[in-house]
Amino acid sequence: MEYVESLLDLIGNTPLVRLDRSLDGAGGREGSGPLVLAKVEYLNPGGSVKDRIAARMIEAAEESGALQPGGTIVEPTSGNTGVGLAMVAQQKGYKCVFVCPDKVSEDKRNVLKAYGAEVVVCPTAVAPEHPDSYYNVSDRLASQPGAWKPDQYSNPHNPRSHYEETGPEIWRQTEGRITHFVTGMGTGGTISGVGRYLKEQNPDIKVIGADPAGSVYSGGTGRPYLVEGVGEDFWPDTYDRSVADRVIEVSDADSFAFTRRLAREEAMLVGGSSGMAAFAAAQLAKEIAGTPEGDDAVIVVLLPDSGRGYLTKVFNDDWLAQYGFSTGQAPTTRTVGEV
Ligand code: PMP
Repeated sequence: MEYVESLLDLIGNTPLVRLDRSLDGAGGREGSGPLVLAKVEYLNPGGSVKDRIAARMIEAAEESGALQPGGTIVEPTSGNTGVGLAMVAQQKGYKCVFVCPDKVSEDKRNVLKAYGAEVVVCPTAVAPEHPDSYYNVSDRLASQPGAWKPDQYSNPHNPRSHYEETGPEIWRQTEGRITHFVTGMGTGGTISGVGRYLKEQNPDIKVIGADPAGSVYSGGTGRPYLVEGVGEDFWPDTYDRSVADRVIEVSDADSFAFTRRLAREEAMLVGGSSGMAAFAAAQLAKEIAGTPEGDDAVIVVLLPDSGRGYLTKVFNDDWLAQYGFSTGQAPTTRTVGEV
């Protein structure tokens, strides 16, 4: 019989898929221009790259004794890391409490609750010193007996999971022929772990970060941008500043337009940070196409999550229009009167 013991056994080993039409001819086939391969992380069982770090951080805490049987995982997150932690925690018999600000959508909270996690909602409109603030509530919960806070922004097992798994997978899948690795940066865990592993195998591999215009990684001050999950207004401990050879700044408009192209032309329904990274990879392919560097280039771009979580945003024409962004395509709905 062919089956796994638990969904957790399906974390990682995501496929590489060749990008084609969205590259406007700059992405070739093997041996004719840059080959651009997408590492499709939404095929993880919790739907994102964050399943990897959730599993690794929990295993490490079990080994160190920081997390005891029946313990409670407390993390201030509402996004992909929460889903990964909730999934792993449930399967391993831990409780999970997520602290999130009240601006987080009900849909996101419901996903966490669906896995059996508890969600504590904090008011955004109070000062950080206030006892009900997001920071104070999560610190209070994390200091209770049996509680453990993974803290993805400082936990070394976040980048380590990518050093030990994501990086080796990419090296093996490309038979060591990867020349460029492109990824977005949130905690910086992905770029730091994968980048370090790949450079240890071959120091000539170029590691390229894609970053929303305004974020500190591309020299900004944290100015607001709309792409979610990437870019920061501070430098996390999990980000290794020595690993990126280059950072490509991408506007929200380009990120969202490319996210829509991936769905329409590559059948990849992914989130805005994937569109951002893939836009940077496509730009790189166009830059080096037709040069000696481009001929044998194998560019791997990591796509962190699915577009399902953004149907009311990136995939909503009215939402895009509200911010002045184009869908980049003809209208796709007609009223019954027009039919
Ligand atoms: N994209 C999305 C949607 C994410 O949730 C994250 C994680 N914050 C990233 C990209 C960035 O990954 P990392 O934290 O490893 O830099």
